[in-house]
Amino acid sequence: RAGVLVAGAGEAGVRVATTLRELGYDRPIVLCGDEPHQPYQRPPLSKAFLDGKAVRADLALRTPEFFRDAGIEVRPGQRVTDVEVDDSGSGTATCEGGDTVEFDRLVLATGARPRPLPVDGGGLDGVCVLRGVDDAERLRDRLATAGRVVIVGGGYIGLEVAALASARGLATTVVEREDRLLSRVSAAPLSEFLAERHREWGVEFELAADVRELVGDGHRVHDVRLADGRLLPADLVLVGIGAVPETTLAEKLGLDVRRGIVVDAGCRTSHPGVWAVGDCTVRAHPHLPGELIGVESVQNANDQARAAAAALAGAEPPRPPVPWFWSDQRDLKLQIAGISSGYDRHVVRGTSPGADLTVLYYRGGELIAAESVNRPADFLAVKRALGKGKTIAPEPAADPATPLKELIT
Ligand code: FAD
Repeated sequence: RAGVLVAGAGEAGVRVATTLRELGYDRPIVLCGDEPHQPYQRPPLSKAFLDGKAVRADLALRTPEFFRDAGIEVRPGQRVTDVEVDDSGSGTATCEGGDTVEFDRLVLATGARPRPLPVDGGGLDGVCVLRGVDDAERLRDRLATAGRVVIVGGGYIGLEVAALASARGLATTVVEREDRLLSRVSAAPLSEFLAERHREWGVEFELAADVRELVGDGHRVHDVRLADGRLLPADLVLVGIGAVPETTLAEKLGLDVRRGIVVDAGCRTSHPGVWAVGDCTVRAHPHLPGELIGVESVQNANDQARAAAAALAGAEPPRPPVPWFWSDQRDLKLQIAGISSGYDRHVVRGTSPGADLTVLYYRGGELIAAESVNRPADFLAVKRALGKGKTIAPEPAADPATPLKELIT
């Protein structure tokens, strides 16, 4: 009988298990993952792995020996298909194939799956998504022979792939429904900076454009038809229009699910014996009352996992984390600290136009976030300030020669 069963063996699920052991939790821990692989990291899938600079073994989150020595039972290829939980939180899970696991506490760490493009032609050969390592391998093979690439979605994954495809000399077009890139996760100054860089690399953008259909010869894709009727030739289409939280089990359990599984700061769901962590969750936004947000990042997966593990082990809750995120696009290293949604003022700083940039975001006079490109010291200063509940005065911050760490008050 497991003390804790974790459904989902990704970034968040693994972190729950390893943190429980670090906190001295000594009951059996079982980690069921539906993918037929040992737990692995996703960020390199659109970066080094896609570029052929990393192989599967480089992606491992932990070695099998680590899990064995830590007494964490990892069961790859074991999708949890059904689960029953009583009021105290103990219950039984059924895995694909019929195996059952009894447990005292349940953690849902089921991640998200690619949002499907709601048009005809999605099933044509040459149409790809990017979430798992098998997707990445398929896309990598396709990129090796493709000539014209259309990426549907101007989010981080789309831009990382566009950076890589254009570096290989492939004709690359990004189609984005909003009138700017990264509209869901970043503010306008960063969107404009990145669009400019990508254009210099030869990437073309169709902004405020919708895809009506993926057109093929019955087998392979050869065009993307836009809503205005134009055809963009493509022998490779990557659909990167976001991820949908995987909430099937949560819904079966009758938990509060609103787009994602609703959790509090300690990652408790609406059931007192069930926790949820990572991309499958949504929670209250610090600056937007009444709004629930999902944060899809490695940092969020790990910090939520630490919070859940602390509660499960009866330990002190960890300090509230500062959200942070990164993305690599050729020579651009993007780093984001905080969440800029709801900002009412911003300050831009940079030394060499086009090569670096930091945008600081304020709300009611208080620093809430910063997005920076190739200015790691700015990122670290803002992360530190936010972590200590401090701020950075906006006027002096506009001078790029003054280190931000000297302005923290
Ligand atoms: P996942 O890592 O998705 O793990 C969930 C696991 O649960 C999956 O293996 C899923 O198949 C499994 N599962 C689902 N249902 C069941 C079930 N019923 N039973 C058993 N198993 C189940 N973040 C960053 O911060 N920086 C980056 O640069 C970055 N780059 C990224 C690039 C790509 C291509 C992708 C896809 C993501 C990237 N992310 C990045 C986001 C980051 O990887 C995710 O936020 C993180 O993986 C979330 O962890 P998770 O454990 O919640 O979900």
